[in-house]
Amino acid sequence: MPNVTFVASANAVAYLGAEPVLFDIDQKTWQLDLDLLETFLSQDCYSAKGGVYHSKSGARVAAVMAVHVQGNVCDMDRLCRLCDKYELPLLEDAAEALGSKYNGKYTGTLGDIGCFSFNGNKIISTGGGGMLIARDDNLQKRAKHLATTAKTDPMTYFHDEVGYNYRLVNVLSAIGLAQLEKLDAFVEKKRQIAETYRHSLRGVGDIGFQKIEDNVESNEWLFTITTEGAQNLMDYLTAREIMVRPFWVPMNMLPMYSNCLYVSGSHNISNEVHSTALSIPCSTSLDTRDQDYVIRSITDYYK
Ligand SMILES: *Cc1c(COP(=O)(O)O)cnc(C)c1O
Repeated sequence: MPNVTFVASANAVAYLGAEPVLFDIDQKTWQLDLDLLETFLSQDCYSAKGGVYHSKSGARVAAVMAVHVQGNVCDMDRLCRLCDKYELPLLEDAAEALGSKYNGKYTGTLGDIGCFSFNGNKIISTGGGGMLIARDDNLQKRAKHLATTAKTDPMTYFHDEVGYNYRLVNVLSAIGLAQLEKLDAFVEKKRQIAETYRHSLRGVGDIGFQKIEDNVESNEWLFTITTEGAQNLMDYLTAREIMVRPFWVPMNMLPMYSNCLYVSGSHNISNEVHSTALSIPCSTSLDTRDQDYVIRSITDYYK
């Protein structure tokens, strides 16, 4: 999995008693670096009966998790080919990417299992909770079984393993369905906001953006810029009552994951992006006047 993500992606691995292997990200797209993954699988692992094993530790590589960071998508064709070749399941953490597409196909439908979040900050929300999708009926049934306390039939209280209470309750599901009707409009609005920012902030100071490849239609869930003095700019905008957010601390810098294997090239891109990135207002409720104020403030900062 990528080293740059929200902590929940790594936690999901840890809950299972597994250990995340953290890969650095691509400098331009901020997604899992597939060159590093390919090299790791071909040079640092071996295939044997029962799966792929990491040579040095002997640990089995159980799955690959792509995270569609900020609604953007990595080269999924290449990633699918890689996972096919090594017969590794491909999970998509599409929590931020509901409505994003890769080669015209929705994210979450490209791998074996896709998961989405309806947390309060996501593009649609039920207040909390989420959704898991899988192409394979058996995987769907298995997930549902585990999420509903592993009860073997609706009447008797017979549970055949340790399950979870992970269901999205019916009231929240109803809210989610109503929210889903608005998804297209939300995506449209997010794209407009992002387009306006890109157009107005390109060439201002040293501002950079996350690259979105031509075959990706991002839902533009969160708009993030990079600049050398990110902290100064954050302070400046905060003083102007503009809400800004720093970028996630990379997983290998968090205490519970600092001992995990971290695979990177000669540059530590995770850290570079972390220390230069900041997210600026991009809610679907942001009006033109407020966005203009944000743009003007950022432009003033560089004068
Ligand atoms: C929000 C988020 C999650 C977690 O979703 P919850 O519904 O809050 O559990 C997981 N991964 C990523 C990348 C996220 O942004």
